[in-house]
Amino acid sequence: MKSVTVIGLGPMGSAMAGAYLRDGYDVTVWNRTPARADELVARGARRAESVEAALTANELVVLSLTDYDAMDAILAQAPESALAGRTLANLTSDTPDRARRAAAWLAGRGAVQITGGVQVPPPAIGTPDAMTYYSGPEDAVEAHRAALEVLTGIDYLGADHGLAALYYQIGIDMFWTALLGYLHGQAVAEANGISAADFLPRAVKTMDLRYFLEFYAPRIAAGHHEGDVDRISMGVASLEHVLRTTRASGVDDSLPAAALEIFRRGVSAGHGQDSLTSLVGVLKRS
Ligand code: NDP
Repeated sequence: MKSVTVIGLGPMGSAMAGAYLRDGYDVTVWNRTPARADELVARGARRAESVEAALTANELVVLSLTDYDAMDAILAQAPESALAGRTLANLTSDTPDRARRAAAWLAGRGAVQITGGVQVPPPAIGTPDAMTYYSGPEDAVEAHRAALEVLTGIDYLGADHGLAALYYQIGIDMFWTALLGYLHGQAVAEANGISAADFLPRAVKTMDLRYFLEFYAPRIAAGHHEGDVDRISMGVASLEHVLRTTRASGVDDSLPAAALEIFRRGVSAGHGQDSLTSLVGVLKRS
């Protein structure tokens, strides 16, 4: 029978265990706070009474935790012998370096880590468009392809364990800053009596950055920063208008102020007449 262990039952791990149950897997679960397993157990999951029991129940162990410190704290509760022969699909967010160090530590105990970075929120687990970055030994990913694909599609990046974490962090860097931009805009909107619901169709259009990404990516890659369609000096003037509108609305201005400061650094570095893409170089030198 298809079987898997899931350790970590936050919103993400619970969604993963649920997807395995729906797919007919024999699912063993463990969580630091045992009550979080109750609903899954009611749906047919087995509750492991210890970390050791969770690890030894199955060859494939999926980890979904806040960070790698949580993994260390959990694995310290089991004898190291419980790790031998296991494949740990670690879908926990952390830095590339932490991912590499954990994989090496596990390898020293006879376990294989597959490093993953999930690109979708919990409700999208088990849906067709969901994707996860993976890195680590390709043969281990292939051996567990069917089980991993119960959760999401696989974007395999290479043997270096840090790659999945790096790609994930680059994506989440863009996600948090873009989402915060959306939230800031809605704060200004609400302060002016415009509801988020009213603004929604405009927000969707504004946040669709596909045209800009496809236009800028080849130029960034080529180091081509000519200010033929956009200039940093224009960005400075524009952000000053945003800042003044924000202040006049009584809304916190720290986000547009930080953006303006970066644009001004671009001007100070001599890029006032260059494209916004020259900020990539300015940021790399920071
Ligand atoms: P949570 O932070 O809610 O996950 C918490 C899990 O980690 C719980 O099982 C919690 O146990 C456990 N945990 C935390 N600290 C410890 C510790 N010191 N010892 C033992 N267990 C610990 O995150 P999510 O479930 O939302 O996400 C899991 C991972 O997936 C994260 O790395 C996140 O970045 C990533 N991710 C999340 C997305 C999302 O939208 N939620 C989207 C994409 C990726 P307890 O229940 O006892 O607190």
